[in-house]
Amino acid sequence: MNKVTQSELLMKYFMEHPNQDIKHPEVVDWVTEEYKKLTGEVFRDPDRGIRKLAQQGILQKIRKGVYRYDPAHVITRELEDFTLAQKKQILERDGYKCVICGRGREHGVELQVDHIKPKDFGGKATIENGQTLCAQHNFLKKNYKQTETGKKMFIRLLGLARELKDAKIIAFCEDILAVYEKHDINGHIEWDK
Ligand SMILES: [Zn+2]
Repeated sequence: MNKVTQSELLMKYFMEHPNQDIKHPEVVDWVTEEYKKLTGEVFRDPDRGIRKLAQQGILQKIRKGVYRYDPAHVITRELEDFTLAQKKQILERDGYKCVICGRGREHGVELQVDHIKPKDFGGKATIENGQTLCAQHNFLKKNYKQTETGKKMFIRLLGLARELKDAKIIAFCEDILAVYEKHDINGHIEWDK
């Protein structure tokens, strides 16, 4: 008998309940029991398995702890993968260099074509929405977004402090925002000096 894998079992549940918002405990209880029945083993960390399927775009995260399997969404999402021809065009446009660090294959880095606006947020497979990143910067891309979040937060705080004429917080925010400028980080987000 072929041993059922944990992700197969998770998918079985979701595929039997398509287009429904499924809460974590509901699927977790089912797969844990079913896995025990089929294999006699304990299903370890089903939460992690669900998150992984969501990262792969197979499940949609509706809100915290609620997931949905929509077959049409999975197909649409695949349509938004870049074709080989598009990848080549994007790499050529970017001169076969990572747009963040400027390194290319001659520096021994692996180049990847990335969706600027991610597929999960409706990003399309267009040349304009593509960019060349080295594997390292592709991996860091999400974390690098945090500098943007931080800058926006300090801009908001600065606005509030100015309204309240809070000199101490005004000076603090202006110093932090000056550090962004000094290091040339997120220059596309403007603030009122
Ligand atoms: Zn890079």
